[in-house]
Amino acid sequence: MDLNEVFDRTRPCFSLEIFPPKDHQGGVETIYETLDGLKEVRPEFISCTYGAGGNLADSSTIEICSIIKEKYGITPISHLTCVNNSKEDIDVILTRLKAAGITNILALRGDLKPGQEPKNDFAHASDLISYIKHFDSSFYVSAACYPEGHPDSESIVSDIKMLKYKVDCGAQHLISQLFFNNEDFYRFRERCAIAGVNVPIEAGIMPVTSKQSILRMVSMCGASVPSKLSKLLNRFEHKPLALEEACIAYATDQIIDLISNDVDGIHLYTMNRPYIAQRIFKVIEPMR
Ligand code: FAD
Repeated sequence: MDLNEVFDRTRPCFSLEIFPPKDHQGGVETIYETLDGLKEVRPEFISCTYGAGGNLADSSTIEICSIIKEKYGITPISHLTCVNNSKEDIDVILTRLKAAGITNILALRGDLKPGQEPKNDFAHASDLISYIKHFDSSFYVSAACYPEGHPDSESIVSDIKMLKYKVDCGAQHLISQLFFNNEDFYRFRERCAIAGVNVPIEAGIMPVTSKQSILRMVSMCGASVPSKLSKLLNRFEHKPLALEEACIAYATDQIIDLISNDVDGIHLYTMNRPYIAQRIFKVIEPMR
């Protein structure tokens, strides 16, 4: 499906994110099991992450995007990071994407691993977005955004200024970092509108189902944990089934509220767990 068409309508888009399985998880082969489960929720697209640190050699992103497209008939978005790639590396990747018929890219800066030297051709996602558009303007380019501000930013205002620049460079659609308080997203959306960021913004929702994984995620991305969620995590910390149910209900509530507030789209971070996505989509199906 053409992403321009997906966002050129009044109902919200529903999309999913997966990551390439690690070798110790059975490698790329196990992705079929994940995708068999996820296809049931009929997403408008599935995006696949690109190995942190950004090295084509250790990333199966393109292979998985081809599987999403060819075997499942679902539109793929390939994530692509630039901080650890040279222009030559990016040329190779773009050529491979084009040859595989994958025309949608989520262009990201990425984060360096401790001790890793950047390659210096691309300092920010905006550089990659311009580069992709010059390489071949038919690529549909998406970018990341941060309802609570990116951890490196001085302020939310400066972050939104940079976001506007990414859109001016050619980003056609934004996917947000996970957040647990919808008010943060609504404030951010308003600020984007004032700043002239006029492309669709999908809300990133992560149904995390263990206290440890929430704490790990928020320490990495800087998202805040509202007291309602924090109480729930403490109350059910040692009751995994109760915690899973409560977290699914929390994420579902967030999504229903976002739909009621005319969100452009919901992007579910599935953590490669189709069961959770299916549970959520069963409830929201009549609202699509
Ligand atoms: P940028 O847009 O470059 O922003 C980074 C910081 O620099 C911000 O503070 C911004 O305000 C500032 N900035 C931006 N442009 C400029 C400029 N031109 N001049 C000066 N300052 C500027 N990581 C992975 O490794 N693989 C993935 O697949 C992946 N997928 C992601 C998907 C989503 C939806 C999100 C939200 C994040 C994802 N990440 C992924 C994490 C991402 O790489 C990190 O958050 C990274 O720190 C920033 O990436 P970015 O593209 O937002 O960077």
